[in-house]
Amino acid sequence: MPVTKERPAEPVPVPEIEEQRMLLQAAERLLDGVDRALARLDDGTYGTCEVCGGALDDGDLEEDPLLTRCAAHRSPGA
Ligand SMILES: [Zn+2]
Repeated sequence: MPVTKERPAEPVPVPEIEEQRMLLQAAERLLDGVDRALARLDDGTYGTCEVCGGALDDGDLEEDPLLTRCAAHRSPGA
């Protein structure tokens, strides 16, 4: 049985639109997080867990300044 070596003349281009859309969504999520962090700075709740109100770990905040939940209330992997 012969192997078909039929291929498109040119490699299929990476769907750049799709890639850009994902980048845009990531940027929008980040902006959303910054917005919320700023609002929390305004009302004085920045650095506290939005669920239990406990203080967030300084090291965690340094790693992710947009953190809104303590370790206990963070969903794993999120
Ligand atoms: Zn908490």
